[in-house]
Amino acid sequence: MSFAAEAPAELGIEILGVPEGSSIDIDLRLEAVMEGVLVTGTAQAGLVGECARCLEAIEDTVQVDIQELFVYDDPGHTARGDDLDDDVSRLEGDLIDLEPLLRDAVVLALPFQPLCRDDCPGLCVECGARLADDPDHRHDEPVDPRWAALGNVVVDQNEDRPAPPED
Ligand SMILES: [Zn+2]
Ligand SMILES: [Zn+2]
Repeated sequence: MSFAAEAPAELGIEILGVPEGSSIDIDLRLEAVMEGVLVTGTAQAGLVGECARCLEAIEDTVQVDIQELFVYDDPGHTARGDDLDDDVSRLEGDLIDLEPLLRDAVVLALPFQPLCRDDCPGLCVECGARLADDPDHRHDEPVDPRWAALGNVVVDQNEDRPAPPED
């Protein structure tokens, strides 16, 4: 079965995510098994965010696979308590709560460092200009000679190490 769902708030990571209220296209197959209902399918959603290097707005889409076994919420079993795995997904009545699944799947599918393009040159370290807009961007003032000297310092890590005690 295919349907569209409205995206919940904060679906994604801070820098990239599915806008709240936007449409998520979900395609699911439900299969009755011994223990409950096996849910498999895919979900596709739009993403908005910003480039981790140059902060340019990004629009993208994400598609995730969903697979989860929802076990019957049997009051006789839950009453016994401890021997049941708390992490298991349960049918609540006849309802399947897809949101936690979707949340996990989407977050896993997102890049840690979303980029506007693979080779995004980022921002100029001196003035913050976006280098992709201005490939020939440079500053004519020479680098401060005091800092330039640091480029020539070679640290010999063994030189000053005290000899180990003899006894
Ligand atoms: Zn960028
Ligand atoms: Zn600059």
